[in-house]
Amino acid sequence: MQITTTNKNYTFGVLTEDFYTLCKHFSFLEHGVIGKSVLGKPLLFFRFGTGSKKVILCGAHHGKEWITSMLLTAAVEKLCRMHQGGERFLETDISAFFQSHSLYIIPMLNPDGVNLCIQGLTDDIPVFLRSRLIGMNGGSRDFIGKWQSNIHGIDLNHNYNALFEKGKALGFADGVYGPGAGRFSGEHPESEPESRALADFTRAICPDSVIAYHAQGQEIFYGFNGFCPAGGEQMAKAYAEKSGYRLITASGLTDCSGYKDWVIDSFRIPAITVEVGLGENPLPLSQFPKIFSDNFSAILTL
Ligand SMILES: [Zn+2]
Repeated sequence: MQITTTNKNYTFGVLTEDFYTLCKHFSFLEHGVIGKSVLGKPLLFFRFGTGSKKVILCGAHHGKEWITSMLLTAAVEKLCRMHQGGERFLETDISAFFQSHSLYIIPMLNPDGVNLCIQGLTDDIPVFLRSRLIGMNGGSRDFIGKWQSNIHGIDLNHNYNALFEKGKALGFADGVYGPGAGRFSGEHPESEPESRALADFTRAICPDSVIAYHAQGQEIFYGFNGFCPAGGEQMAKAYAEKSGYRLITASGLTDCSGYKDWVIDSFRIPAITVEVGLGENPLPLSQFPKIFSDNFSAILTL
């Protein structure tokens, strides 16, 4: 029986239950915490594999995009089942993949934002933050289906040190002047505990490549500021071929202060942003089976 929940909105609570059940069920699955969110929720990670090829896969920088957390958790489960059973997936021997790779999978980088987007203003949010949030939300208490940022109103995927000031200027030009539902970069790079934790983790792991999962568009962004590191295009093309997603060279605001941008700029390694699914965020659960099948085989091209 499948452990990963795919029939309800993927709150941090649902993720946590799935996460620890999977870790208990598959003893070879290493796991840990890369840091904590503003509200103190642990930022969980799995490590699948013991090999030297290290890849970081990160979901839900954005609250509305929690379907990426479900995707990554379900992918871990399928990999574990196939490894345990000594199975192959198409041309890939999963146990050989386990030995050659170490996938560091952070299913939900922004648990506070995800919960705000799914559950609205809950009691675990301190009163002073609740009133700040209502202020940022134009006086409305309605957050459900709307929030991308973390609980400080900072867009985590614009909080990295890569063309940070340019990203901020483009935001201003678009009328983004301060904290809110999305797109505000913050006062300085890595100002938020979630983005700082991922940046620290990336610096500690020194991965060979990274993938940041977002929604939506069925698109893959690669390259940064006119530069694509060795192997970057090849990785993006392989992922595109398997997933059926379209390749896009990033530009404008999508090419500033994101995790992919910072990784390419700082480490000169392949990094892509994968935009799963198609439609309006939060994507409906009915899209999950297709999102899963499009992306699972692509992960094996890493
Ligand atoms: Zn996103």
